[in-house]
Amino acid sequence: METKRYIQLEEELGAHNYKPLDVVLSHGEGVWVWDVEGNKYLDCLAAYSAVNQGHCHPVIMRTMIEQASKLTLTSRAFRNDQLGLFYEELCELTNSHKVLPMNSGAEAVETVIKAVRKWGYKVKGVPENKAEVIVCDGNFHGRTITIIGFSSENQYRDGFGPFAPGFKLIPYGDIEALESAITSNTVAFMVEPIQGEAGVVIPPSGYLKDAKSVCEKHDIVLILDEIQTGLGRTGKLLAEEHDGIEADVTVIGKALSGGFYPISAVLSNKAVLGVFIPGDHGSTFGGNPLACAVARTALNVLIEENMIDNAMKMGTYFLSQLKEINSPYIKETRGKGLMIGVELLPEAGGARPFCERLMALGLLCKETHENVIRFAPPLVITKKEIDWALARIKTVLLE
Ligand SMILES: *Cc1c(COP(=O)(O)O)cnc(C)c1O
Repeated sequence: METKRYIQLEEELGAHNYKPLDVVLSHGEGVWVWDVEGNKYLDCLAAYSAVNQGHCHPVIMRTMIEQASKLTLTSRAFRNDQLGLFYEELCELTNSHKVLPMNSGAEAVETVIKAVRKWGYKVKGVPENKAEVIVCDGNFHGRTITIIGFSSENQYRDGFGPFAPGFKLIPYGDIEALESAITSNTVAFMVEPIQGEAGVVIPPSGYLKDAKSVCEKHDIVLILDEIQTGLGRTGKLLAEEHDGIEADVTVIGKALSGGFYPISAVLSNKAVLGVFIPGDHGSTFGGNPLACAVARTALNVLIEENMIDNAMKMGTYFLSQLKEINSPYIKETRGKGLMIGVELLPEAGGARPFCERLMALGLLCKETHENVIRFAPPLVITKKEIDWALARIKTVLLE
């Protein structure tokens, strides 16, 4: 079938909630993907960091196939032989005490909001229905109604109200704003270590560390949304390690399955997840044996194959080389590990045309927020592959 026909089917029959680049992919291996015409591309988006381990990692694939032929879904009405081991390995790795498995990132964020509200009422003693959660301008925590209700992005909200109350927005990276937003009803502060969707926005150094001590002082829960920054992306297992802290609650997803399967998890170091009693919360697919087996292997591969160190080394190299590009279009180049954004000047005409030109040269990436090109390849990328990418990026930015 022709490329045009695939696109036509999507356009005619699908809701238009995305505006993808017109490349129709049919297979992938490591950092490379191929379209239906056989053209090869270097994937610098990695499914928004869900394929940190690289496309179709053979070891994860083996687990996927083996587990799929044994047992896939029991529901949590019964126990299964993967869930406990998944908990044990994940807790050991992240130094957590409790886990709650879900499917998508947004579901895990919803779960956290339920947990911290209940914690506020039952443990902290906040009056019923008064709990407040502080979040940041520019946040991206998913697309459900509750979550978009506290987005500062007009398009995410427009046409979808009414929204759930109980959220307060403050500027990102501003610790004084956090202090002054706290009231006796505040139960939690939820924040991304780096704002990916907002355009790879990096807060002042020490921000998370300061947030942690403010939260401790006022007895509120620090929630880090590490769905994008976690699992090696920034050169550490969790981005919180850059600040030498441990959040009270951490949300992970995306690369937790290496891109094979939707799986997310809430990790908690405090009593927060302890507030749930049977019947409070659930998910038919959450914690299923296929997801748990795949996640166990995806985590193992990340560690065993040194992908996190590679992300740090390759990210440092990639960023330093990008910073050397002396292009009249570039406003700022920033990043941590392999989470990198090149912000273009407004007069460059938007990041989208640059992404389209890169695609024509065999490099796939996606604009984020009009003017930022995000480079976030799988963590298995080599120096040679980065040089290959850099040659194309230079061509496009120096044209
Ligand atoms: C992708 C993402 C989410 C939402 O995850 P979904 O699986 O798409 O629901 C939430 N927070 C952050 C920081 C993300 O990058």
